[in-house]
Amino acid sequence: MKRIGVFICHCGINIAKTVDVEALTEEIKKYPGVEHAENYKYMCSDPGQNLVIDAIKEQKLDAVVVAACSPTLHENTFRNASERGGLNRYVCEMANIREHCSWVHDDKTVATKKASLIIKTIVEKVKYDEPLEPIQVNVTKRALVIGGGIAGIQAALDIANAGVETILVEKGPSIGGRMAQLSETFPTLDCSQCILTPKMVEVSQHKKIKLIAYSEVEDVEGSVGNFKVKIKRKAAYVDQAKCTGCGICYEKCPIKVDSEFEEGLGKRKAIYTPFPQAVPNKPIIDTEHCTFFLKPGKCKVCQIVCPVQAVDFEQQDEILEEEVGAIVVATGYDIYEPEKLKEYGYGTIPDVITSMQFERLLSASGPTVGDVRRVSDGKEPKRIVFIQCAGSRDKENHLEYCSKICCMYTAKHALLYKHRVHDGEAIIFYIDVRTAGKGYEEFYNRVTDEGATYIRGKVSKVYQDNGKIIVLGADTLSGKQVEVEADMVVLALGMVPTRNSEALVRTLKIQCDANAFLTEAHPKLRPVESNTTGIYLAGAAQGPKDIPEVVAQASGAASKAIAILTQDEITFEPTIAGVDEDLCSGCGICVGVCPYNARELDREEMVIKVVEALCQGCGSCSSACPSGAAQQRNLIDRQIERMVVSALEEN
Ligand code: FAD
Ligand code: SF4
Ligand code: SF4
Repeated sequence: MKRIGVFICHCGINIAKTVDVEALTEEIKKYPGVEHAENYKYMCSDPGQNLVIDAIKEQKLDAVVVAACSPTLHENTFRNASERGGLNRYVCEMANIREHCSWVHDDKTVATKKASLIIKTIVEKVKYDEPLEPIQVNVTKRALVIGGGIAGIQAALDIANAGVETILVEKGPSIGGRMAQLSETFPTLDCSQCILTPKMVEVSQHKKIKLIAYSEVEDVEGSVGNFKVKIKRKAAYVDQAKCTGCGICYEKCPIKVDSEFEEGLGKRKAIYTPFPQAVPNKPIIDTEHCTFFLKPGKCKVCQIVCPVQAVDFEQQDEILEEEVGAIVVATGYDIYEPEKLKEYGYGTIPDVITSMQFERLLSASGPTVGDVRRVSDGKEPKRIVFIQCAGSRDKENHLEYCSKICCMYTAKHALLYKHRVHDGEAIIFYIDVRTAGKGYEEFYNRVTDEGATYIRGKVSKVYQDNGKIIVLGADTLSGKQVEVEADMVVLALGMVPTRNSEALVRTLKIQCDANAFLTEAHPKLRPVESNTTGIYLAGAAQGPKDIPEVVAQASGAASKAIAILTQDEITFEPTIAGVDEDLCSGCGICVGVCPYNARELDREEMVIKVVEALCQGCGSCSSACPSGAAQQRNLIDRQIERMVVSALEEN
């Protein structure tokens, strides 16, 4: 039988005002197994902790219960004190008689009785607590960052600058992401490429960064500290080591197709780099359009003209294997499909374009070298209607959420348009203008001061009449219908997570929300962590964000990864789930219920194994296991049963 000590805290008057601490101490002294009980004004203070330490030594205690506040606040304090007294830290438990009792009751008699019940159940628990040792795992001091937009670039640079080797995997032919497509950026109007490309170059030249472009993560095994990753490097049909990036191949290639980077407003060749400052600046062949692949053996112009024989039509996809200790996911966003907004005429009216297409028109390196031109006839539009919330904040038909950035980028679009076409008219339809951010309201004021017209209301229809574009909407402030004739319409489309990222989410065993954005471990307190320890989230993949927010979050994710990757070993709490292999039938029910993918079926032995570094001790498996084989360490069925019985008996 263990000798148990119980230490009851007054917490000033927080507990003592509603709980009769003296009477409670006398009551607890009589409970079976309790050898020692005392109370003190502030048990967490140094003198309070010394009471615990001294009593452990003097009374030869085997276990300790501290009846005070929530274990989330002071469990560590008292476990440390117990260790200093000579006990194993896991035979010290807290009974929460503050949040669960004194704070929620007024009647002293009732509260004192409840406090007594709470303490007695915890005494029952501690009777069966085993001494445990923390779990230690060696760390592979390398990081993987998935996605090479500004989020991935920032995270990779931060981790690498901390001296940790970093692998950056980008699925496209170049890093840069969406930011590379932008013209100028709100609210300061910095040229997007001018601030981005130095970072891209830094990535390519960083001694600690290995950039693997045109590649995707295929498989991830293992857990925090020791992930094994398989990366598929897609065949570029250009030997990246031989290629000098001279560009003769794409100059001479006879095939022209719409450029994805130019959002269909410009052309690229079948062999191409997406934009002149691409990193890496080596071309790839698009097999869907290349004549050689469509008519086997034909053309080969690029191969013939390449001065270093870098074009290699025989190249195959490759699987690369890497080991890393932590992963940052920064897979970014896509734009809501404009085709879904049939009433706005995208796809049928050539001068109804998307906000990203408008970025390309505004960009000095874009298809019009920064001049705003109509798609249909190349003329300068004299009146542009911008439609905000195109697809966002429309629960019935489209996205329920606010995409957060569209108000600001539309204000920027209106301003940049006015800078280019001085006599041009910018009319913006909006539901609300949301400008929360440093300098954002001031920016919006500047846009209205410079003559942009804001109409509060929704556009119901955009159509063509005699070659003119008509925008039909409601002005909800005047209560009138409005009809505006426009030369161009720009749809401020919402942000959605990068399409087809479900497979990666499954591979990484992380989670996403109802809108497919990556889910953080806690929306307020752990916003850059996924539910899987060692996998962190950065950028618009986790939710709509602008660049300053993305960069801040990426640095946050990087610092979490660095905290792990700069240690030789990491330590985990051992109070996780185990498996009694004699009882386990290998049914696998727990594998399905574990939200952290911490349980695996060993098909040879037909028993469940626990990946200790992944288990968070949530208890889902223990409650689901039909044979009682899954048990939480220091919260086994027997303990729960004794706690319940004790509470019922006392009542
Ligand atoms: P992304 O830029 O989307 O980068 C993600 C990267 O990950 C991409 O390179 C992608 O290819 C890669 N990737 C995706 N999946 C995988 C995978 N499975 N494996 C490997 N790689 C993968 N913000 C501002 O602050 N100021 C502005 O003026 C501004 N203007 C904007 C204008 C428009 C029209 C829009 C739509 C947005 C604007 N933004 C602006 C927002 C800005 O674009 C984003 O905040 C930023 O680009 C998000 O960066 P990211 O790295 O999270 O995502
Ligand atoms: Fe272009 Fe011909 Fe080379 Fe194909 S083979 S990329 S079509 S030059
Ligand atoms: Fe998974 Fe939770 Fe069971 Fe651990 S306790 S194995 S995290 S279900």
